[in-house]
Amino acid sequence: MTLAEHLTAILPPGGRLHFGELVLRRDANGHFSACHVRDESAVVSLEPADSVRELRDLAKYDAEGNYRPLKAAPGLRSGWITSTSVPQEFLKRLDAIYPGLFATWVAFDSGKLAAVPLRETLERQTGMYRAVGSITDEMATRILSELCQPGCLRRIVWTIGADDLPVFANRGSGEIPLLCTEACTFAVSRARELAKEAN
Ligand code: SF4
Repeated sequence: MTLAEHLTAILPPGGRLHFGELVLRRDANGHFSACHVRDESAVVSLEPADSVRELRDLAKYDAEGNYRPLKAAPGLRSGWITSTSVPQEFLKRLDAIYPGLFATWVAFDSGKLAAVPLRETLERQTGMYRAVGSITDEMATRILSELCQPGCLRRIVWTIGADDLPVFANRGSGEIPLLCTEACTFAVSRARELAKEAN
């Protein structure tokens, strides 16, 4: 099944799904649309953003003009709507807001993508990041509580060690979760800071 086929299957005509800070809808004629969840009841007054470039630009900065280096961080601007009847085009537009995250969920949900334990990610680092492999479990937990939980909407499905109990991320009804299947560069950088502080 292609990604577009997955999309049309989970979002049938008349359907509605949450995807991060977005609400995705499909009307009775099969048209797809997405807007900020805060704007759902104000659709008539929204600015159309009907190109990948426009959406990529609006995802770059928050409403105060601050750069958003982490695309899954809360703070996506509101006031716009994007719509198309072509599922492949709709997926490209979703990718402009949350790069690769629809495909990540489909791959994980169908068992084609496995989560990578944090220790495996850290032990793979080289050069100035090599020391990150020495962080304790307590430090790893701090990464989760200080970086991921307050600053990112992705749902972590990796564990700290390979033998830790897996966290299941089944799709709740009415949503496509933004999954985190492997710690990102921000988490690795935070691990480096913690390792340096400990020495
Ligand atoms: S490790 Fe995952 S959940 Fe944590 S900040 Fe990075 S992308 Fe977000």
